[in-house]
Amino acid sequence: MEILKPKIAIIGCGNVGSTFAYSLMISGLAREIVLIDANPEKAKGECMDLNHGASFVHPVKICASGYEGSEGADIVVITAGAKQKPGQTRLDLAETNAKIFKDIVPNVTKHTKDAILLVVTNPMDILTYVTLKISGFPVGRVLGSGTVLDTSRFRYMISEHCKVDPRNVHAYIIGEHGDSELPVWSNASIGGMLLNKYCPACNKSCDYSKVLGGIFEEVKNAAYKIIETKGATYYAIGLALTRIVEAILRDENSVLPVSTFINDYYGIGDICLSIPSIVNKGGVQKFLRLELSDLEQRQLRESAKTLKGIISKLKI
Ligand code: NAD
Repeated sequence: MEILKPKIAIIGCGNVGSTFAYSLMISGLAREIVLIDANPEKAKGECMDLNHGASFVHPVKICASGYEGSEGADIVVITAGAKQKPGQTRLDLAETNAKIFKDIVPNVTKHTKDAILLVVTNPMDILTYVTLKISGFPVGRVLGSGTVLDTSRFRYMISEHCKVDPRNVHAYIIGEHGDSELPVWSNASIGGMLLNKYCPACNKSCDYSKVLGGIFEEVKNAAYKIIETKGATYYAIGLALTRIVEAILRDENSVLPVSTFINDYYGIGDICLSIPSIVNKGGVQKFLRLELSDLEQRQLRESAKTLKGIISKLKI
């Protein structure tokens, strides 16, 4: 079998998997994309639809396959499994999707001993931990999409309020990708100016502590709102995944809040959650031991405790 590099395998070609494939195809980052789904007809259909745009993008081979097609993949992106129904939390999916992962992960690792595994399916932090344990891969090579999406929502909403380019907003959401996530206000800045200095100086005369609190609530509840309206979220996560894959394939040493194995950080250990981390061709090189305020430390410990509570009930 001829393998074209870089090669990305996508497990699960539903809303998220197929939107990511589309974004990846347009990016020109991959030379080969393999689509794998429990429903092979769905994978075939997505593959045909994508390939019919081949004359508009850089050369890329896209095919549908069984797990054997993941052989030689540089990155395997797992988006397969159940999604939230309106009103359901991400954590409600833990048991169902952990069961699915017990089947998927060994099937993937049978063919891809050297790949980086990127977990997207919710509850993403828990499934990143499950994938790490089942695969036996080194910690750097198993990561989750983390709060890269939540952080992008956060930067967008701050930028809209403050009328600045979102790329000049440096602010992170950390912890669980879910209800216990937290904003790191203590380090948030615009153009190098901490928000607690920027806001009083901007002459907008808004009640900024109230406004910022409202922005975080909107970020946290964004997925619920979108699911209520259109049933699923997929465009922004498709772009977030393309960004993570870019950082890996181009060996960028980019700082991204991916979900990674955390040990010995403010009393937190043996858990996967999101902290800004350096991402390069080896996966996660290390997470940054951000200095957090007392409140943020407490919130992060609570977030870790929530995740640990769920993990302890799963039979991994
Ligand atoms: P979807 O229902 O549209 O697609 C899921 C796909 O997985 C389906 O095509 C299904 O056939 C396939 N599948 C199910 N079991 C499988 C198995 N054992 N092997 C292979 N394929 C299998 O769902 P979606 O909207 O694409 O969402 C997928 C997941 O991504 C959900 O868990 C969702 O909550 C999550 N998600 C995560 C983020 C994030 O930021 N991490 C963002 C959006 C969605």
